[in-house]
Amino acid sequence: MKAFGYATTSPSNKLAPFPFERREPRPEDVVIEILYCGICHSDIHTAREEWGGTHYPFVPGHEIVGRVSAVGGKVTKYKAGDLVGVGCMVDSCRHCASCYDGLEQYCENGFTATYDSEDKIGGTPHEFTLGGYADRITVDQHFVLRIPENLDPAAAAPLLCAGITTYSPLRHWKVSPGQNVGVIGLGGLGHMGVKFAHAMGAHVVMVTTSPEKGTHAKALGADEVLISKDAAAMEKAAGTFDFLLNTIPVGHDTDPYMNLLKRDGTMVIVGAVEPLTHTNGVPFIFKRRSMAGSLIGGIAETQEMLDFCGRHNIVCDIEMVAMKDVNEAYDRTVAGDVHYRFVIDMATLHDTART
Ligand code: NAP
Ligand code: ZN
Ligand code: ZN
Repeated sequence: MKAFGYATTSPSNKLAPFPFERREPRPEDVVIEILYCGICHSDIHTAREEWGGTHYPFVPGHEIVGRVSAVGGKVTKYKAGDLVGVGCMVDSCRHCASCYDGLEQYCENGFTATYDSEDKIGGTPHEFTLGGYADRITVDQHFVLRIPENLDPAAAAPLLCAGITTYSPLRHWKVSPGQNVGVIGLGGLGHMGVKFAHAMGAHVVMVTTSPEKGTHAKALGADEVLISKDAAAMEKAAGTFDFLLNTIPVGHDTDPYMNLLKRDGTMVIVGAVEPLTHTNGVPFIFKRRSMAGSLIGGIAETQEMLDFCGRHNIVCDIEMVAMKDVNEAYDRTVAGDVHYRFVIDMATLHDTART
């Protein structure tokens, strides 16, 4: 099946128009005409090969929302016209202990990511998966999510990654009313962390390097703002947090943040997929604190998160961009110059290609 998207061909090249093939639907497949796709910082890390091993040409995009245009003969969950989404995964083994528990993101045989992942099923046109900066995608129904129709579909797109990556650890560590919860880093993930922690009834503190983001954080649902560069304020807040959600996208000194936790508190790292530069044992030992990590969320939990958003009317704060402006949007994301997620309007994809 013909498809058209944007790809980059090297770590330093810009994204540019790219015609390619998608697989025809197999019996369990859903074909989705993509309406919107969010720009996650992971797209940029991978496009620029900051995590190593990117396969080019590379089509990014794993915050996909669209409408079903065709389904295979055995598809029971969806029909043409349904509003659906696809997040970071398009396949997993389905029979390991993690898959059995509905935690496909921890598949012991390795899940297939929506982009730049070895496609383990024969008959697909590409060895490595190609993501959602494109007009359509073919995905097994198990990995397709239903988007509540009351949500703005463009603003719902980043829920598929930024949303579930923040919702899942807040749920797993049982964030609840009365707890003091810090969200570190006000970007795409962080702004959703604030909204979810607030909706779950916690007292939410935005921990940010950017004082100018304070007013915005409060509008998102933060009760307080803590400037992480202000050593005196950080010292004053030491030992006061039950839980910290750390979305900093690079390696960093974790001690100042660990010191914020109460006895038995936990800080969950979701951003830094690289060495943490300085991590002293003292903050762990003296207050029995923990540091943990968390990867997106399983398919069932992603649907639970979307339904939660439908009930609570939660969507992302987005800035829509035309496909031709995607390279500028990358630079602005890295510079922290977006409130808080860019979403590509796929209606601009073909217009751009013809000019
Ligand atoms: P983003 O929009 O760029 O936001 C990151 C925020 O972190 C920035 O806005 C900034 O907030 C803060 N920050 C940036 N550099 C910093 C530094 N050197 N020190 C302290 N704070 C810094 O990124 P995102 O899309 O939210 O993604 C965040 C990270 O999560 C990325 O690395 C991404 O790859 C990763 N990710 C992980 C998963 C997972 O499953 N674990 C899923 C999706 C994404 P302030 O200005 O408020 O300080
Ligand atoms: Zn992502
Ligand atoms: Zn598995």
